[in-house]
Amino acid sequence: MAEKIARQRKPEQAPQVRRTNFLEVAGNYSPEQARLEAGRCLQCKNPACVSGCPVGVQIPQFIQQIKDGAFARAYEIIRADNYLPAVCGRVCPQETQCEGRCVLGKKGEPVAIGNLERFAADWAAVNTAAETREFAFPRASRAQSAAKIAVVGSGPSGLTCAAELNAAGFDVTVFEALHELGGVLAYGIPEFRLPKEIVRREIENLSAAGVRFETNAVIGKIRTIDELLQDFAAVYIASGAGFPSFMNITGEDLNGVYSANEYLTRLNLMKAYQSGADTPVLKGQNVAVIGGGNVALDAARSALRLGATQVYLIYRRSRAEMPARREEIQHAEEEGLKFLFLHNPVQYLGDEKGFVQKALLQKMTLGEPDASGRRRPVPETGSEYELAVDTVIVAVGTQANPILKDTTPDLPTDKRGYIIIDENGRTAKKSVWAGGDIASGAATVILAMGSGKRAAKSIGKYVRSA
Ligand SMILES: Cc1cc2nc3c(=O)[nH]c(=O)nc-3n(C[C@H](O)[C@H](O)[C@H](O)COP(=O)(O)OP(=O)(O)OC[C@H]3O[C@@H](n4cnc5c(N)ncnc54)[C@H](O)[C@@H]3O)c2cc1C
Repeated sequence: MAEKIARQRKPEQAPQVRRTNFLEVAGNYSPEQARLEAGRCLQCKNPACVSGCPVGVQIPQFIQQIKDGAFARAYEIIRADNYLPAVCGRVCPQETQCEGRCVLGKKGEPVAIGNLERFAADWAAVNTAAETREFAFPRASRAQSAAKIAVVGSGPSGLTCAAELNAAGFDVTVFEALHELGGVLAYGIPEFRLPKEIVRREIENLSAAGVRFETNAVIGKIRTIDELLQDFAAVYIASGAGFPSFMNITGEDLNGVYSANEYLTRLNLMKAYQSGADTPVLKGQNVAVIGGGNVALDAARSALRLGATQVYLIYRRSRAEMPARREEIQHAEEEGLKFLFLHNPVQYLGDEKGFVQKALLQKMTLGEPDASGRRRPVPETGSEYELAVDTVIVAVGTQANPILKDTTPDLPTDKRGYIIIDENGRTAKKSVWAGGDIASGAATVILAMGSGKRAAKSIGKYVRSA
């Protein structure tokens, strides 16, 4: 009976070892494990897993190929719907998407769809690089007169839109503000969860397929959206929501208080963990990370790897309300992260040189549910106490960077600065589409990819009929 096979576990570095390095935590399935895991799939006639995938990967079909040992074909099937399977196999919240709908999950553990996706992608990269590139990234047959389309931002949304439009024969240029491509995949998610080599590989594939990339190109500074529209038939804005939020409490301007974005960018892009880095970070011994999402956990686990003695994750709700992925919470706990649930900082205190020395924490209880449906944290009067810290990393959310809104007066945005789009990603401004976090607010890789895909279809139709 298929259900009797246990869900296969990926090999992992031991917690005490991995907390001392930035190497990837989890390894890949062996081909034997992958085939065993694929054998657990019931091949449902109406697979709920597919409807749980924002880009509609044909999940039972690729799993069947893995079961049959046809790994290259499995990859080809995934690739038809998902341009970044090695990334999604690693960082997608499968537990709330495809795996969350797997019927096996009703009575036991769902099929490890994410692990199988990663297996197929990594297997293809090692074993069939040349052929894979050919079938998965056919160099677009592009007419000399192909319409030119600009994409602003090279995160998962921009990359997906660019890939789709390129495959449809358009001449696509991606403008990226940073010196490295990939958006959060490059500057945010740390190496130990998503090796940068994988992100680079996916981007090289796109480049080989004909997508043009311009780095160090801040749209809104070097050229406005209106100036782009003089040269390009359409623009897709996928500039993300990378503008850090703070809590606006006393002491946030002290030395040693970082936004998670700055901290992670220094580590991931500027290699701050290496000696002699141009943009080092403080290697704190007692680090407080504020927040309960993936970003907070990434920052906290990075601080552990930089050698901190104690890293506290300070979250104003309880574990049940944490938005971070379960797997990441478990990994962090194994690595020795100390969780201070139902706590909130109200002030930071510094030394005479202006470096943070203490966090004044307040205890919280949970009240009635708020607009998000989660129980509202309520401060406990008189519960404040001091915690000695030498580094604080604030990971309480991000917002839209205002640069494009400010330089594009007729671009419709909501009151938080997010671009307003219709169901196809189209804005009310002529020839301009948007998607990913800059339209939805901070979300997930796969949702950003899904919106890039929808917009590409709509842009293609528009440009062809123009
Ligand atoms: C630390 C961290 C961990 C995360 N972990 C997960 C996870 O495990 N799983 C998951 O699914 N999601 C995770 N997310 C969320 C996910 O990464 C984002 O939802 C996703 O990257 C959004 O994609 P995007 O393409 O819209 O934007 P981004 O990835 O933010 O990319 C936007 C790009 O646009 C560029 N840009 C901005 N302004 C301009 C401009 N004016 N001109 C040119 N370029 C510009 C930026 O430099 C950036 O490269 C995480 C996010 C963070 C920060």
